[in-house]
Amino acid sequence: MKPLTEQEIRTAFVNCTKGEARRLSVPRDLAERPWDDLDYLGWRDPRAPHRAYLVTELDGRPRALALRCPSPAPMQPRRGMCSMCLTSPTGGVSLMVAPRAGRAGQQGNTVGTYMCSDLACSLYVRGKKDAGAGARLHESLTVEEKIQRTVANVAAFIATVTA
Ligand SMILES: [Zn+2]
Repeated sequence: MKPLTEQEIRTAFVNCTKGEARRLSVPRDLAERPWDDLDYLGWRDPRAPHRAYLVTELDGRPRALALRCPSPAPMQPRRGMCSMCLTSPTGGVSLMVAPRAGRAGQQGNTVGTYMCSDLACSLYVRGKKDAGAGARLHESLTVEEKIQRTVANVAAFIATVTA
């Protein structure tokens, strides 16, 4: 994806208030992120590890989600499969819960999905980060096809949040 600025990210949130989007923590090292290898940028709030965020580009526009997730469990990471990239990383997957956009979200409606706890789907799919032994399905898809699948899964998740 193309690099985004802090301002572009803050204005891209679809499921939190403008005030929340202004205050939430955006990574300070945006310039150093490997944008060329990212289908979405995901990060956790360093001051509140149960909060996570992701931003991606949909139809040429940045879209960002505010997520809640359990704090990374130090004992036994949950070794499940990520619904976005279909990897089962040794670092585990976390249930990420997004308040729905608009009125539904204000009424407490949420939608959840399991995602790589470190939000590094893009790097796992490209083989740029080691997900550990047995973490990947044996598939006959090319890397490009896996990337397209991940992009489609992220887009579908955002569509559910904004529906
Ligand atoms: Zn993943």
